[in-house]
Amino acid sequence: MRIVIATSNAHKLQEFRAMLEPLGHQVVGAGEMGGMPEVVEDGKTFEENAAKKACQAAMAFHCPVMADDSGLEVLALDGEPGVLSARYAGEGGNDGRNLAKLLGKLQGVTDRRARFVCVIALADERGVLQGCVRGEVQGHMAQAPQGNGGFGYDPAFVPQGYDKTFGELSATVKNSLSHRARALEKAVAQFFSPASRETGKE
Ligand code: IMP
Repeated sequence: MRIVIATSNAHKLQEFRAMLEPLGHQVVGAGEMGGMPEVVEDGKTFEENAAKKACQAAMAFHCPVMADDSGLEVLALDGEPGVLSARYAGEGGNDGRNLAKLLGKLQGVTDRRARFVCVIALADERGVLQGCVRGEVQGHMAQAPQGNGGFGYDPAFVPQGYDKTFGELSATVKNSLSHRARALEKAVAQFFSPASRETGKE
């Protein structure tokens, strides 16, 4: 089926494509729908922000829309950067500055446990929320960035069970265990399976 993803983040879209196209789904990005409407991401949780993005984009595009809100939570920093992951370094920030700020705060910190969180929300064509699902991947923060793969905090995040960062691991490995992959697996089962269509959830 055709799935519209409410994101203007090319990296995220690429990951959604890599995971959904082999299942036979056609992925359409917000850019192909005329661009993401302006959404103020002022929610305190990933769920609130994902729901907001999905509902507002569905109303703008007049079709069912899936949106994700994701980020990194570092245990020793009480969950920072959390929902502020994309804007951690403030105005004019970017992935490099966000990561530099985080690694700076973690200097000398021995407990480096962290997790990536991804919440995917689905809204129907009227902009009514159909549900949210959450995926997480546990790991720890490296001392310094390693590898050029992925995006965001990937070069400093080592998933549990590996000794390389997401920046060093291949896209195939990342897409098999990431927070986004885990949320997407639940989203497909909950929103797009034949059973969910029969019960009218889609
Ligand atoms: P969002 O677009 O508001 O959901 O913000 C997501 C932000 O969280 C990104 O800009 C990254 O900083 C971070 N993030 C989310 N997922 C990932 C990932 O898979 N790898 C690295 N960073 C991520």
